[in-house]
Amino acid sequence: MPAVPLSTIVEEIHNASQAAQRPDARLLAVSKAQPAEAVAALAAQGQRAFGENYVQEAAVKIAALAGLQLEWHLIGHLQSNKAEQAAALFDWVQSVDRPKLVGALARHRPADRDPLNVLIQVNVDDEDSKHGCAPGDIDALADAIAAEPRLRLRGLMAIPAPFPDQTRRRAAFVRMRGLFEALRARYPGVDTLSMGMSGDFALAIAEGATMVRVGTALFGERQAS
Ligand SMILES: *Cc1c(COP(=O)(O)O)cnc(C)c1O
Repeated sequence: MPAVPLSTIVEEIHNASQAAQRPDARLLAVSKAQPAEAVAALAAQGQRAFGENYVQEAAVKIAALAGLQLEWHLIGHLQSNKAEQAAALFDWVQSVDRPKLVGALARHRPADRDPLNVLIQVNVDDEDSKHGCAPGDIDALADAIAAEPRLRLRGLMAIPAPFPDQTRRRAAFVRMRGLFEALRARYPGVDTLSMGMSGDFALAIAEGATMVRVGTALFGERQAS
């Protein structure tokens, strides 16, 4: 898949959001396995928010690009022993899926930073191999996050199974929308439903995504690592 210009992706997001009669979904540019130069090139075109999967890899890029005032999101699985580093590096952590992480991130969020924005990652297709909490665990995790002044509960994130069948993918997005609305009813500050990637972000927006995470379409195929 060759890279698509940022302006084209932004336009596709705008069109899908208009069709759904909602404000434009936010674009998170997923820069895992891309060099800092590629991030800087997109930043020069106006992209502010970038997503990374690995704390170590992100630390290098965040340091190299500190002057650009970018917004960094952790979207990969977070091991508890990396929570301290993640709490200091990122603006958002989208992969919170267990109580132990909540305490660790809150404890280590530096006092001179704004509260850390947090999404609860949901294992919406109940896949054995996937990270994310069960839908039934969302409320308890949300309560734990909301009780931490150093964290700010913003919503939910999911990586639905990549079913080739659009109907099954749509069903996962629809389930997430329902969980998101239920959470927002309990916590009105919740405003973010992060779902949809290069292959299905328009479908995700149609079903209620407020943030889409796009890597391959923006940067081209990743090198095998
Ligand atoms: C890699 C990744 C993406 C981006 O996927 P693409 O298909 O390259 O757009 C989005 N979300 C998560 C959690 C990822 O790990």
